[in-house]
Amino acid sequence: MNKPSYVGRFAPSPTGPLHYGSLVAATASYLQARHNHGKWFVRVEDIDPPREIQGAAENILSTLKFYQFKWDQEPLFQSSRFKDYRFTLDRLIQLQHVYACSCTRKDLEHIPQKTDLGKRYPGICANKELPLTDTNLNLRLRVDEKVVSYNDLHYGLQTHNLQNEIGDIVIYRKFNLPSYSLAVSVDDAMQGITEIVRGIDLMPFAPVQIYLCKLLGFRVPNFLHVPVIINQQGQKLSKQTKASAITKDDCVEILVQALHDLGQETPKDIAKKSLSHLWSWAIENWDVEKIPKVKKIPYYNNIIE
Ligand code: GLU
Repeated sequence: MNKPSYVGRFAPSPTGPLHYGSLVAATASYLQARHNHGKWFVRVEDIDPPREIQGAAENILSTLKFYQFKWDQEPLFQSSRFKDYRFTLDRLIQLQHVYACSCTRKDLEHIPQKTDLGKRYPGICANKELPLTDTNLNLRLRVDEKVVSYNDLHYGLQTHNLQNEIGDIVIYRKFNLPSYSLAVSVDDAMQGITEIVRGIDLMPFAPVQIYLCKLLGFRVPNFLHVPVIINQQGQKLSKQTKASAITKDDCVEILVQALHDLGQETPKDIAKKSLSHLWSWAIENWDVEKIPKVKKIPYYNNIIE
């Protein structure tokens, strides 16, 4: 089989404006794609209406444009993809891998231990045969005990047993909402994504995506997770932790900072040059080996005076 040429993507959820942490993840994914002469797409993950903020998608896209990220295809909005998610769910149902679950968050509160992948669902509804058509119920994917392993291109070999670590996962939430893992797996396959570059906070989802890909006969993408940016309280920058929007005033300085946080040593005078000069330099000199082998990087680990 021919090796597909590189296709990468940045997949923000429109839960707030673009903050510095997302910029670092976008920069890593963009440079990895461009350095490998690949294509790069942007996908807006807007299928979780309660968490979304009006105008955030436009803000993210216009900020990326302002920073001169260039995508190779019109951005894909997940909200336009429900038919495909439903089709995939039906395939999983045919494979007899899905059951309905009436457990509420409260029912599962008592589960004590949390594994690297999250809380393990103990299979309470696995044999109840509740109706799959009841949209008041979540639908779960039966997972088995086969070991899922992959080589993260930054953090190395990862090995998981989904059944022991997380149990049967919610694949469709009540009221017909596809889960994050289902939507991402379907879209990455449909868009031909060969490598997923994103923050390490999303690493627990990788083995689930690999499991789904194998079940559905999709090509398994490579994964490259990068450290996340944290605030002074040690929390990941996010909308929940009130990370502020990045400004459009000092694009070059902010990008130089992002490159520094990603371990790339920029020439001394580069912050005085243009944004397009900075991008050309960064694409040519991007070195994935230099990304720090840590999980967290403090916000504005300052190199800018
Ligand atoms: N939409 C997810 C987020 O913004 C990222 C998904 C991904 O990169 O796989 O957290």
